[in-house]
Amino acid sequence: MIVIGAGTAGLKAYKAATARGADTVIIEAGPGGSTCTRVGCMPSKLLLAAARVAHQARGAERFGVTTGKIEIDAAAMWARVHQERDRFVASVLEEYHAIPDTQVVHGTARFDDDDAVRVGDSRIVARHGIVIATGANPIVPDSLDAVRDLVHTHETIFELDTLPKRMAVLGAGPLGLELAQAFARLGVSVSLFDPSDKLGALTDPVANEAAIAALGGEIDLHLGVEAKAEPAGDGARLMWDGGSAEVDLILAATGRKPALDTLDLDRTGLELDDHGTPLFDHASRRCGDSRIFIAGDANAWRPVLHEAARGGQIAGDVAAGGEPRRVLPSLAMAFTEPNIVQVGTDFPDLPDDARIGCAKVSDNGRATADGHDEGVVRLYGDADGLLIGASIVAPEGEHLGHLVALGIDRGIDVATFADQPWYHPTIEELLQSAARDLAGIKD
Ligand SMILES: Cc1cc2nc3c(=O)[nH]c(=O)nc-3n(C[C@H](O)[C@H](O)[C@H](O)COP(=O)(O)OP(=O)(O)OC[C@H]3O[C@@H](n4cnc5c(N)ncnc54)[C@H](O)[C@@H]3O)c2cc1C
Repeated sequence: MIVIGAGTAGLKAYKAATARGADTVIIEAGPGGSTCTRVGCMPSKLLLAAARVAHQARGAERFGVTTGKIEIDAAAMWARVHQERDRFVASVLEEYHAIPDTQVVHGTARFDDDDAVRVGDSRIVARHGIVIATGANPIVPDSLDAVRDLVHTHETIFELDTLPKRMAVLGAGPLGLELAQAFARLGVSVSLFDPSDKLGALTDPVANEAAIAALGGEIDLHLGVEAKAEPAGDGARLMWDGGSAEVDLILAATGRKPALDTLDLDRTGLELDDHGTPLFDHASRRCGDSRIFIAGDANAWRPVLHEAARGGQIAGDVAAGGEPRRVLPSLAMAFTEPNIVQVGTDFPDLPDDARIGCAKVSDNGRATADGHDEGVVRLYGDADGLLIGASIVAPEGEHLGHLVALGIDRGIDVATFADQPWYHPTIEELLQSAARDLAGIKD
């Protein structure tokens, strides 16, 4: 078997295939170490952790706690981010380097045909299958060409060792939002632009309004606008319909594209969608009837870590003779404060006879005790009373999202979900309130 890419999905695919006894080679073009640990989940969460501490310290006075002036030592803050990130990278590299040399090929893989790839001058033939696990690359819009030197993506932003005074973030998806809030909390003046009016990919209008109200106080939000950039002194001037602003740095958080361009997919018989991504079965990650599989961000479906890991495991296992697995409820988050969480059926896909239950964060005792009053939980049920989804903007919403996902996966009905041992006072009681609202329980 051949696995292309030694990131999260690729390493899982290699392990699963090897566990089934398949003679597997893994091909990696870069140094290894995974997007998650090098330039994704982990460095971003390290930055968010510093920002959260700064924010809490600034807000301490309202609890009667005196801290003195809050200052950010940018060099020390970045040093911790880099040091901890390097530890995460090292742990993934350890797994990668434990693979025997005979099973690792360094270089860029290109398809020769459906059963073989080329790396440089070598042709490698797969008898069992090929798993594409090449991840995704950031997209930088052409409109930033004139100020390219000031533009960062997630691949470079975590290499900083200072903080800019003013920055623009393009893109209000989870990545853009998390980093916009983090930099704002670290004392940077942040303006965020997005042509859509949705935050964190929220499609539920009530949840979206709640997110805008909660985050708009910290970030200068410009939604529904196209921003253009031109050089201005040492920085850039952002211009949009209705205003302009000068910034020192621009973060392009304008999406990520499956890294398929170098693969020569046209040499295969794979059927591609309009974006050039192979069509595949979600339960097996198999592309059509071929022996080619695709897992992780490369397939553009649910580009999150747990799906990359599980998808790689499934692809490697099925390619080596295993069975397809069930498709899990979708679960996606932005680790802003409040958290933004989307679980299960998305608002636009709700059936016409779906019902929605609602609970406001401001009505939750624990949230208000902790000093939070912004956000909402929207729970979705189908006509039979089954839990099918949720849109959550809430403190600690990440934990609520997991409970809803578990409930959906177990096929729980909303009344039973409401009738669980919800401890008081907890943020989790928001789920109980929303479930009771949805089920029409008044007593
Ligand atoms: C800033 C940021 C924050 C994120 N935060 C979160 C989060 O909090 N939670 C979450 O769940 N997800 C998060 N994600 C998403 C998560 O990081 C990804 O879903 C996950 O890392 C994808 O793993 P992968 O295996 O598909 O790709 P990767 O880890 O990128 O692995 C792909 C590998 O393929 C190699 N490769 C590419 N082309 C070739 C080729 N032709 N030949 C050989 N090798 C090749 C690459 O060098 C790379 O090593 C975040 C992403 C970003 C960018």
